Amino acid sequence: MSDTERATRDLLVELLGQFYAKGWVSGTGGGICGPADGGGLLLAPTGVHKERVRQDEFFTVDPRDDRVIKTPGNPDLRPSECKGIFCLAARDRGARSVVHSHALSAVLAGDLAAGGDHVALRDLEMLKGIRGVGNRDVHLLPVIRNTPREAELVEHVASVLADDRFSGAFAVLVADHGAYIWGEDVWEAKRHAAVYHYLFEALVARRDRSTEVTA
Ligand SMILES: [Zn+2]
Repeated sequence: MSDTERATRDLLVELLGQFYAKGWVSGTGGGICGPADGGGLLLAPTGVHKERVRQDEFFTVDPRDDRVIKTPGNPDLRPSECKGIFCLAARDRGARSVVHSHALSAVLAGDLAAGGDHVALRDLEMLKGIRGVGNRDVHLLPVIRNTPREAELVEHVASVLADDRFSGAFAVLVADHGAYIWGEDVWEAKRHAAVYHYLFEALVARRDRSTEVTA
């Protein structure tokens, strides 16, 4: 294993601890992936307390065909159910790191689609934290319906990634569930995750104001 991959494993462990403290990956939900040696993705295991994942507990998957190419030593661990969506974001968007959040703010922001298929983020300086977006832009994020199993979300994510309206989006909201947020490396995924969660909270907090204006 290269020093680079070792450092990435350390970083992913550190971020899972931070994300747990923020309530993004509580109750064993949520997850993260990052770049492995040789073009693979390091994937956290499923059904474990994310703040306790260790450096040697990541799976390595090939994003070209979703195949697990390296398993951790512990046979009780299974790869995260996010695998299919993480690999899809890698293939379709060149993502090398994806954060899956179960944050309440993401769920409440998804509610604002109100039966539609997107939410619009606007009028915030923090929009500049998303690659290619300015503070005067109206940034559209797709919202898809939840499914009984995480793996069943893949085809719905694929269809919104193919939608031109969302070509500038680095996140997909899943109604009643959370969000997938990505970047070209772990640091961009981390920045996008921080900025989008801020934007989700702002959107929800401003909902009452927008209702007053339009009433
Ligand atoms: Zn989830």
